[in-house]
Amino acid sequence: MINTVDKTRVRETHLRRLFFALALPETLQQNIVQWRADNFPPEAGRPIAAANLHLTLAFLGEVSAAKAQILQQQAGRISQSGFNVTLDDIGHWPGSGVIWLGCKNPPRGLLQLAQLLRSQAARSGCYQTPLPFHPHVTLLRGAVRPVALPAKTHNESFRADHFLLYESVFARGRTRYNIVQSWPLAGSERRFDAN
Ligand code: ATP
Ligand code: MG
Repeated sequence: MINTVDKTRVRETHLRRLFFALALPETLQQNIVQWRADNFPPEAGRPIAAANLHLTLAFLGEVSAAKAQILQQQAGRISQSGFNVTLDDIGHWPGSGVIWLGCKNPPRGLLQLAQLLRSQAARSGCYQTPLPFHPHVTLLRGAVRPVALPAKTHNESFRADHFLLYESVFARGRTRYNIVQSWPLAGSERRFDAN
């Protein structure tokens, strides 16, 4: 039997699965999906839906509302310029079954932003993998068998002028990412170098 005390406890301990990420512009998502359809056979893996194509900066795991609030406040104090991300690399991690697009030469701003968010997360007790950060956009999952990767990547750039906190929700057999909050990365118009 559920009484009111139990309900309160459930609310207080409610956890959300959260991660910081860069969003991909919608046209880029569509272009990647088209390119993927032209370059991978259906048996290569499970394609990620266009709207779910993103670049994770820091994975937080299952987080309480109180911890999320602290992490959101810290994220809001980040003062960093935007940067261009060029997806000119492709790879396959058979162990995790992931085929991805990445950057041959990731921009420093991207590495700095991820590093900061990951160290803030670690300080708040969110486990961070000791593996080096490898910025990537997951294209296909369940790709555990050898696959011939296309010789040429999609190779398109986008401007990262904001970053987001997402909640990952699994319902009715599908994973959806809901935006929790978004923060701007400063424009380059006030800077002299156009990186
Ligand atoms: P699903 O797991 O439901 O198939 P998903 O992996 O996209 O879909 P999540 O597991 O919620 O959804 O992950 C959200 C984002 O965080 C994805 O970019 C995922 O690659 C990344 N992620 C998930 N777990 C970890 C982890 N332990 N370490 C680093 N990144 C992670
Ligand atoms: Mg997952």
